[in-house]
Formats: sequence, C-alpha cells, structure tokens
Amino acid sequence: MRPPPLLPSPLTELDDERLGRHGVTLLLKRDDLIHPDLPGNKYRKLHLNLRAAADAGYDTLLTFGGAYSNHLRATAAAGRLLGLATIGVVRGDELAARPLNDSLTRAADDGMRLHFVDRSTYRRKTDPEVLDALLERFGYAYVLPEGGSNALAAQGCAELGRELRGRAEVVTVACGTGGTLAGLTAGLGPEQRAIGFPVLKGGRFLEDGIQQLQEEAFGGRRGDWRLDDRFHHGGYARSTPELEDFCEDFTARHGLVPDRVYVAKMLHGVFTLADEGIFPPGTRIAAVVSG
Ligand SMILES: *Cc1c(COP(=O)(O)O)cnc(C)c1O
Repeated sequence: MRPPPLLPSPLTELDDERLGRHGVTLLLKRDDLIHPDLPGNKYRKLHLNLRAAADAGYDTLLTFGGAYSNHLRATAAAGRLLGLATIGVVRGDELAARPLNDSLTRAADDGMRLHFVDRSTYRRKTDPEVLDALLERFGYAYVLPEGGSNALAAQGCAELGRELRGRAEVVTVACGTGGTLAGLTAGLGPEQRAIGFPVLKGGRFLEDGIQQLQEEAFGGRRGDWRLDDRFHHGGYARSTPELEDFCEDFTARHGLVPDRVYVAKMLHGVFTLADEGIFPPGTRIAAVVSG
C-alpha cells in the first residue's frame, strides 16, 4: 500500500497542568497519523478484512453507512488503493443528499458506487432478503458491516493494545460501534485497563455489542474495560457549548484540533475524570487519537 502505514503509531506525551496537578501523565496514541487516506482505527479495522477479501478472490467490497460515515470514506479509499470496486449503501434519500457532502464526494471520487436506501430498508440491511437483493443487484461482493466492526476488525485492533503494553496504566478511546475498544482491550496487558466513551446516546446498549464482538473475535470477554456514557454531548455529531469551549481551549494550549465527532468527546471525558480524582497520582493515560 502506498504510502505504507506508519506502524506502530507514535506515542507522544502531552504536557498539561490540568492533569499534572493530579499527578497524571497524558500520552496521545497518534493513530490519526497511520495513513493519509485510511486514518486511525479505520486502517486497523480494515486491513485484515482486505486481506481476507483478496485471499477469497473478491474484487468488490460492499458496505453500509450514514451520509457522514468515516467508514464509508475509508472503504472507498481502500478500494482505490488496492484496486477493488466498492459499493456504499447509504442511509437516506438520494435527492435530499444531493449535492453530496464532502465525505460522500470523496467516496464517490475514489470510485465508490453509492446506493441510497430509505431508513426502514436500511434498518433491515442484514436481513437475508435485503442483503440478497443488494448482492443480486451489485454482484458477488465481500460484505463489511456498518462501521466496519466484525471479528476481523476487532482482531486488527488488538495490535493497538499490544503497541500500548507497558506504556500506560489506563487506555481511553471514543466508541461508535465499539469495535476498536473490543479489539484493543484484547491486546492490552493484564495490569492495564481501558475506558470507552460512547459518542452516541444510549451507550449502555453498546456494552452487549462489544461483548458479543469479543466472543466472536476472541472466544470470550477480554481485558478490563468499562464505558462512561456521560460524554456524548447530545448524540452522534452533536455538540454542546461546553464541548466547543473545551476544544477551543485544547487547541490554544496544544496546537491540535481534535476530531469533533469522536476524539474531542473522549478527551473531554479524560480531563473530567481526572478532576473527579479517579486516577491515582502516577497514572499514565494513553488516549487513542482514533482519527
Ligand atoms: C469510526 C471512528 C471511531 C469509532 O470506532 P468504533 O470502532 O466504531 O467504536 C472512533 N474515532 C474515529 C475518529 C472514527 O473515525
């Protein structure tokens, strides 16, 4: 793959007195630097799937997402880089989606064929009759689930945990489907624990999904992890004045603009938990910059 992925991704210390006064060290795991077109956890979740698709002789990938899905865009880029055709099944009305937003425009420019389906069909996308109709229409294709989270994706993310062994007591990550957390915790050492921050409302239901994914990928629950669902700021791609203030201040202090949909919510959670005093002095936290 050109350029080759930057692995292991860099781990850099961030000097911040708001954590320093609690004796806490923050390290940023810069997965956002892994690849310019497949950044962050999208590279980690896709690469074993891409190998499986190629090994089984598929020349087409088919997957699902909303109009702002990073996963759709990453799948389109992977298809272009590896010479695979890609089909994106997009939730929502095509007319309402035109002109296409930046994310879908980039996917289409990478050659992804976009197929819009209404919300009720989208909800039933894994039902055999809906899926079979899609495959009949578009031909034999390797199917990736919404968000790309399947057993191979979780196994790919276990490498992220292994890269962090011995480097931190606590690892934090934002959760969409939770596939990244499911995999990462399987790669951590026994003395390490992970905290996931759901960016969608109703994050409590996520726990079962993560556990199920761990069962499929690793044969059982793995690692010491929990979710803290207080930091979704109203739901997916929503924000609050508090989150905006946090981001502005973070950028002014560190010159980094955190991804608003995921990473900013996780960082806001980490700083809040530190203020709540839950990290004993001496704790090193590795925060995954997942995109
Ligand atoms: C897709 C994405 C996530 C969500 O990952 P899950 O494995 O679905 O939990 C987190 N951060 C960024 C930047 C993403 O693009």
